[in-house]
Amino acid sequence: MKKLKFYNTLTRKKEDFIPLAPPTVTMYSCGPTVYNYAHIGNLRTYVFMDELRRALKYCGYTTRSVMNITDVGHLMSDGDDGEDKMQSAAKKQNKTPEEIAAFYSDVFFKDLERLNILLPETIAKATDNISEMIAFVQTLCEKGYGYETDDGIYFDISKFDGYGKLSRCNLDDALAGARVAVNTQKRHPADFALWKKAEKNHIMQWQSPWGMGYPGWHIECSTMSKKFLGERFDIHTGGVDHIPIHHENEIAQSEALEGHKVVNVWMHGEFMLVDGGKMSKSLGNVYTIDDLISRGYSPLAFRYFCLNTHYRNKLNFTFDGLNGAMTAYNRLRGIISACETAQNADDATLAQVQKQKAAVVDAVCDDLNFPLALGEMWTMAKLPACREIYDAAVELDKILGLELYKPLPAEKTDDVIPADVRAIAEKRFAARQNKDWATSDALRAELDGLGYSVLDSKTGYELKKK
Ligand code: AMP
Ligand code: ZN
Repeated sequence: MKKLKFYNTLTRKKEDFIPLAPPTVTMYSCGPTVYNYAHIGNLRTYVFMDELRRALKYCGYTTRSVMNITDVGHLMSDGDDGEDKMQSAAKKQNKTPEEIAAFYSDVFFKDLERLNILLPETIAKATDNISEMIAFVQTLCEKGYGYETDDGIYFDISKFDGYGKLSRCNLDDALAGARVAVNTQKRHPADFALWKKAEKNHIMQWQSPWGMGYPGWHIECSTMSKKFLGERFDIHTGGVDHIPIHHENEIAQSEALEGHKVVNVWMHGEFMLVDGGKMSKSLGNVYTIDDLISRGYSPLAFRYFCLNTHYRNKLNFTFDGLNGAMTAYNRLRGIISACETAQNADDATLAQVQKQKAAVVDAVCDDLNFPLALGEMWTMAKLPACREIYDAAVELDKILGLELYKPLPAEKTDDVIPADVRAIAEKRFAARQNKDWATSDALRAELDGLGYSVLDSKTGYELKKK
């Protein structure tokens, strides 16, 4: 097994990775709340999960990973306020929460497939594990960590010594940071709900020792990681937004229950920004993979765009940036796939191909340095064309998942839209957003002249070859 190093959020250090029981690596990833389409920021976090799993597998480990599907209990705020996201979507769309969950889960899994993200071995739905969550909360209460109020069961963070160790905030900070308690029965404003008692009109509720109710969001991950991975496991992943609340609370619950450390390595993917800022519906910049596809981008070009920035750095999404990534991706794939029919390498070139192959793997083993790995792929692609480059790319695709060895569809079907055409369409879209109709019309005419039609839609536009 090859050695890997990972940055551990808990220790703030890059460490040698030492699994509990090699060759198996146990790993839990916070999954989506399936009340809406996953946006490209969410998907960046799952590309990161996939980079990690692929790297481990390539290095000879057997992964036992779990990803949850949250289909109840995630309220509008990450605290304990607001309506359940599933219930809110169900009401708005006049559907049941089960229908909402089934629909958005299907879309999510389709997105993962398009991005070449390998599915974790276990997908755990929150609503399939309610009795285990109730048992978890009961044990926490028996151990003195949980207490009952009129509206639920809460975790008493003052009883747990290590509260705040992941985000490095102390209890006083947590108390000061918490909003003034709506629920005056809470012992501390930052105590969080383990179980909520259901109001009559709450659509999703289950029988419990505390009457009808539903689980808190954080207890879902603590319960399902314990159920599927046991009382200690190797790696826990998620986005950086989860560090201060969700993961802090998971640590408190799990360690309070077990009486010892549960997760060895905490790994977090940094956020994706759009045009330098936050993605938000009000700004109209929340994009899905479908939005990118309808604008002529391929999902694997988006994957390349993600891999090209280290997972611990913020990634600023712009259509210019994606354009550049798609051009680079297509070019690299074009060069490498053409090597399938090339001659065998001479000795000197063969040695260089092997050196580059090792460099790609070394980069990935060093805290998933995929940007460097792509650089090494480029260096390989610039060597004299030979069949061994193609063979190396087939093998390395187990880590990269970019299908660089496959010929581009454009060569056969001419359906890949050139970067300069996409750039004109983007300019036109920007003009429309600025209500500059004259420029927009002129650019439409330009696209028309180049043989492309553009159809405007609610979330953007569809660009097609006529
Ligand atoms: P949610 O469905 O809201 O729980 O989010 C699913 C995953 O996406 C979580 O791991 C979040 O940390 C992550 N996430 C949310 N927004 C972004 C973003 N803008 N960039 C990267 N990851 C994100
Ligand atoms: Zn979670």
